[in-house]
Amino acid sequence: MKKILVLNSGSSSLKYRLFSFNNNEHTLLAKGLAERIGLDGSTLSFQQTGQEKQKFSIDLPNHEVTLKEILNLLLKNVLSSIDELSAVGHRLGHGGETFKSSTIITKDNISQIREAQNLLPLHGKAFMHGIEAMQKLLPNIPQVAVFDTAFHQTMPEKAYLYALPMEQYTKHHIRRYGFHGTSHYFVSRELQKIMPSAHKIISCHLGSGGSITAIKDGKSIDTSLGFTGTGGIVMGTRCGDIDAFVPLHIMQTQNKTSEEVHLMLNKECGLYALSGGYSDSRDVEDRYIAGDKMAHTAYDVYIHGIIKYIGAYIAVLGGVDAIIFTAGIGENSPLLRQKICEQLSYLGIKLDEKNNQLRGQTAEISTPDSKVKVFVIPTDEELVIAEDTYRLTA
Ligand code: AMP
Repeated sequence: MKKILVLNSGSSSLKYRLFSFNNNEHTLLAKGLAERIGLDGSTLSFQQTGQEKQKFSIDLPNHEVTLKEILNLLLKNVLSSIDELSAVGHRLGHGGETFKSSTIITKDNISQIREAQNLLPLHGKAFMHGIEAMQKLLPNIPQVAVFDTAFHQTMPEKAYLYALPMEQYTKHHIRRYGFHGTSHYFVSRELQKIMPSAHKIISCHLGSGGSITAIKDGKSIDTSLGFTGTGGIVMGTRCGDIDAFVPLHIMQTQNKTSEEVHLMLNKECGLYALSGGYSDSRDVEDRYIAGDKMAHTAYDVYIHGIIKYIGAYIAVLGGVDAIIFTAGIGENSPLLRQKICEQLSYLGIKLDEKNNQLRGQTAEISTPDSKVKVFVIPTDEELVIAEDTYRLTA
């Protein structure tokens, strides 16, 4: 029996899960979230599987103190000694071109891992907080890095190269990397179990961030996010694809700094901008149902982008066997799935209206005679991180 801790660090947050593995069988023992680290009003939640969630107001000045508090909670509730912990798996936002799969963190590769996070604008370094805190607190426990970009490293050159001057790629590493790779990998792997004949898959990860990936025989061959998490489809507060000159034009004509434009593109765009201030799709959906005009515009633009990418990826794959919906919106919004599938009826897609009402569980939501199968598959990135950590440290 091995116990694996999974950490997902943000600049002011730390999500954690504790799994136990017995051969390849896993059990989730506990999970929780620290929020507002380094800020006023920080909180820490803890939930042991099968029990009520607890939430504490607690001073969390940095990630090291936060991790200490998390370890204390685990020791009080689910671990009899810290020696029971066999390894720690970390979610890393970027693996660059160096990391094509998960890896054990060593003295030799840690600077390359850190360097890869620098490819992310602003908050890239935050992904290192959990690793650094763990190295201080428990330096002898093996740590594994699992990269959001790794699954997309199978994309061919024609999909990842931008038509920029070549040195932007060769010297500055600017190319399409893609993100949400762990999620696209997990849901496509789950689909293979229930539909082994699915060779051409389009995976739609629709959450507050979002991306669409074309997957052929289990490998990513194209994906909608590119160099950063800002392109592709419309997201909660991010703009998705725009003409490359738009930010330059805004800076030049409205006297804005690159930091201001950066903030705008990440925090003030997407559904939030189009709907008049609502980034949570539940709010947009409520207003859509109530007939609000801006909510209709927001969903029209959002859905238009999604069906455009699906159409493009059918062309790239040379057909499609199955479409997957996952992440917060993909798993929980029957309305959005219905609207998307209605616009894909030209493919012979027929939605099973009853199954489409299911939320948050794996379900085939197309009818038996639908030419292309449609599935909802809840994603589980933390499980993939735990599995890779278990496998690499076995
Ligand atoms: P994620 O980034 O995957 O956590 O997804 C966040 C998005 O999922 C938000 O826009 C939420 O509105 C949406 N979401 C989460 N839970 C639900 C739910 N039960 N019903 C509808 N939308 C949901």
